[in-house]
Parts: sequence; structure tokens; C-alpha cells
Amino acid sequence: MEKIKMTTPLVEMDGDEMTRILWQMIKDKLILPYVDLKTEYYDLGLLNRNATKDQVTVDAANANKKYGVGVKCATITPNKQRMEEYPQLTEMWKSPNGTIRSILDGTVFRTPICIPAIKPVVKNWEKPITIARHAYGDVYKSVDLYTTDPGVCTMTYKSDVTGEEKTLTVQKVDGPAVWQGAHNKESSIRSFAKACFQYAIDTKQDLWFSTKDTIAKVYDGEFKKVFEEEFEKGYKEQFDKLGIEYFYTLIDDAVARVIRSKGGYIWACKNYDGDVMSDMVSTAFGSLAMMTSVLVSPDGKYEFEAAHGTVTKHYYKHLKGESTSTNSMATIFAWSGAFKKRGELDNLPELVAFGEKLEEACFETLNAGIMTKDLVGLVEPGFKATAVSSEGFLDAIAERLSAKLA
Ligand code: NAP
Ligand code: MG
Repeated sequence: MEKIKMTTPLVEMDGDEMTRILWQMIKDKLILPYVDLKTEYYDLGLLNRNATKDQVTVDAANANKKYGVGVKCATITPNKQRMEEYPQLTEMWKSPNGTIRSILDGTVFRTPICIPAIKPVVKNWEKPITIARHAYGDVYKSVDLYTTDPGVCTMTYKSDVTGEEKTLTVQKVDGPAVWQGAHNKESSIRSFAKACFQYAIDTKQDLWFSTKDTIAKVYDGEFKKVFEEEFEKGYKEQFDKLGIEYFYTLIDDAVARVIRSKGGYIWACKNYDGDVMSDMVSTAFGSLAMMTSVLVSPDGKYEFEAAHGTVTKHYYKHLKGESTSTNSMATIFAWSGAFKKRGELDNLPELVAFGEKLEEACFETLNAGIMTKDLVGLVEPGFKATAVSSEGFLDAIAERLSAKLA
């Protein structure tokens, strides 16, 4: 059989621990036999990030910017415990996802992968709900303070241009208190809005957006205003043509509506709301290992990844020679998503079809009751499921994929 051709390389970002093991197995069993794989390879494994003083992460992100489509394996974000585990680390390197996000200026879209045997906890959800989380600012880039005495806290802004100052009283207190100063940038909010509208068009789904602008009139009001401006200026016509809708509502109203809905839309959330709601939505749909995740930049660059981490506990079992049952769905779907997007951009229908068939092979495997341990416990009563090993799961997919491509 002749292998499927590629014209532009994918930016391949390798990672750590169990997901690094899965990465190689996915390539060997599901990709290399069928695709004449072209990638520009970056090793984002912790030790190589350390050896390159994290330059490799920056280079990978810039390559993703240049070529347009990347696929990333989960990576360790070092913390204190990791510094002890890897004494050779010269610095507590920052989260690679954070670095890549800030270079691509992207928004993260997370969508559950649904199968009939696993029903969402919310019975009326018939279609996946995609969370679009703004990944800059608010409480994640805030300063906070604890004080004990009676006193007053003020907030001062000083212009770099005129030197003019504006001061507001936050509150006068008569005892111990906590304080927080947060910000967001208009440019970042605008990028977020653009990425959301573009993704709604790409996937032909309605876009919901929610904030609390009745309370935070200026702060959240700015989010609402920027979304409206961008929609009217750049996207309304395309939305009308596709018959999709942009819908703004208050965050509490949105939560109530989401629970009562049938699903099948994108829910754009501010940073904190997205953090909380994506865990709620992913858990209600099944698990993090059954979730696709893609970072989309406002100028149409895509980075596909798994939503979960490096599955450390399974890796240590693997190192001891014990059998593991790690779910590779999210990592496979990162690859299939990247192939479909690359094929679309390069006008390579065969590459797009390969991505689709790879996903179909995964669904057929799960629908046949062949799954990893994490999923076996989630299936509906009466559905017969057998737990297989990490490798056994990939072999079962490979068998079905090969039949499809024959
Ligand atoms: P994790 O790797 O997502 O794993 C947490 C637990 O969830 C696992 O122990 C496992 O539960 C279950 N799990 C996650 N993915 C699974 C899969 N594919 N198949 C089966 N079970 C799965 O999170 P973590 O342990 O908090 O973090 C480990 C490392 O990953 C950290 O160093 C962190 O920095 C990094 N991380 C990276 C990313 C990223 O690169 N995108 C994201 C998050 C975390 P059981 O042990 O009960 O089976
Ligand atoms: Mg979270």
C-alpha cells in the first residue's frame, strides 16, 4: 500500500512519562504504517527543556506559529517535588502550555469525546459541550494581600504617557482583611473573542458567552462590549449564512441553561469560570482522558493536545515492568485532529480521511467493549466491557484501522 503523502510538516512536540510512552506506540502502530509522516520534531521532555534552558519550548511554539499546526504530548510542569525527583534541574521551568499559549496568544477549546455506552451524568445532554476558556489574566495574574489593622486600601493607575494618576478607594476596614488586584488587557479579550467566533464558524456551532457584567460593570462589561463589537464587525454575516447564533447571558443564567440544554454548542468562559466549568463539564461527560483539547490563535494557528497530564502513577508501574491500562484516546485524537487540520489547509483529502478513519477505528473499538480500565467503570449497566492494557487497546484500534484502509 502506498503511504499517504503530506506536504507541510506538523510541529511534533514530544513530552513526558506515560504519555511519552503512548506517543511512540501511537506513531508505531497507528500512524507510521499508513502516513509518510512529515514532522518537525521538538523534544519537550523535561530533561531536554532543562538542557536547552527551555529554549526548545519557545522554538516549538514559534514553529507552530510558522507552520500553523502542531501536536503536543503532555509534559511535566516542574514543582518542588519534581525538583527533588530530578536533581539535575537547574530551574523550576515554567509550564510549557503556558509558554506556548502566550506565544500563540490562543484560546483553549475542550470537547468531550462521547460514546453511546457512557452516558453523561446530565441525562438531557445529547451532544458534546465545548468549553472555550480565556487563558490570560483575571485572578490568574492578580496580586493579593492580607492585612491585620484597621485601614484603607486604594487602587492607583498611573499613565506612562502623561504621568497622570487615578486613585479609587477599594474599602476602608476596621480589622483584618484580604485584598486582591486583578486586570485584563483589551487586546487579549479581543483575541479571545476572535478565536471563539472563528471556532464557532469552523465547527458550525452556536457560541454562548457569559460574564457577570451586572456586578462588574466596567470589568466584565468590557468583555461583553468587545465580544459584541467583534461579532458585529467581523462575524455576524458568516454566522447568519451558517444559521448559527451568538448568545450572551449572565454566568448564573448560563449555568442553569447549560444543565437544561441538549448540548451541541461552544460555551466561552472567562478564565476562572472556564477553569471551574471545564472540570464540571468533563466529569459530567465521563473523564479527562475522553476529551479533545485544541489551542486556537486568533490568526488561525492550531495546537492539538490531550487535556490530561503525563499519568505519572501509570508510568512508575510501567517502569517496574508492570502492565498498565492507560487511555490513549485523548492523545490519538490530538494526532487525528492535527492530520485533519493539516489536510484541510494543504488540500489533502486523503490526509483528512486518514484522521477521520483513525477516529472511527477508536470509536469502533470502544463500541465493541474493548476499553482501558478507567472507562470500564463508567459504562451503562448491561454493556459488556473488557479492560485491556495500554498496548492491547492500541492493537485493537490498529486492527480496525488497517481493515478500513485496506
Ligand atoms: P494526570 O496525569 O492527568 O493524572 C491524574 C490521574 O488521572 C491519573 O493518576 C489517573 O488516575 C487518571 N488519568 C489521567 N489521564 C489518564 C489516562 N489517559 N488514562 C487513564 N487514567 C488517566 O494528572 P497529575 O497526576 O495531576 O499530573 C501529572 C503530571 O502531568 C504533572 O507533572 C503535571 O505537571 C502534568 N500535567 C501536564 C498537562 C499537560 O501537559 N497538558 C496537564 C496536566 C498536568 P489513576 O491513577 O486513578 O488511574
Ligand atoms: Mg482546573
